[in-house]
Amino acid sequence: MKTLQRTLAIIKPDAVARGAIGDIIGSLERRGFRILSGKMLHITRKQAEGFYAVHAGKPFFESLTKFMSEGPILVIALEKENAIAEWREIMGATNPANAKEGTVRKKWAESIERNAVHGSDAEDTARFELSYFFAGYELQ
Ligand code: GDP
Repeated sequence: MKTLQRTLAIIKPDAVARGAIGDIIGSLERRGFRILSGKMLHITRKQAEGFYAVHAGKPFFESLTKFMSEGPILVIALEKENAIAEWREIMGATNPANAKEGTVRKKWAESIERNAVHGSDAEDTARFELSYFFAGYELQ
């Protein structure tokens, strides 16, 4: 069954720095996502730690939060039927070495960490992640 869903996409600092914003947003538009809202942010280390709290304690946590705060990111709120799974399909596998041809990570990711984009992985995480960056009134 198809359900209208909202999800959070992030264009990470590596992809912003490499000029991939237009290409990635183009992919979203071509696939019929509604872009509810978006903003360029340069988050602090502490804000990155709060966003990735679920990964606290993992060996790559320090490096990941340093990377996510190294430069501007674009956070985007998306809406579509089955948006969560579909955006993750377009993103491709976490490790670009395993990402399928035609995916964003295959094209833009540099490594398992500097992998160009983020996408929420479930309805509860999408709710948390959208509310981390957007106020209710921004998502009409
Ligand atoms: P995602 O849902 O595909 O983004 O992957 P995860 O939720 O598992 O991990 C969150 C982010 O942490 C990834 O997108 C990568 O930027 C980073 N990451 C995941 N696994 C590793 C790893 O093994 N090493 C490093 N250095 N970074 C990782």
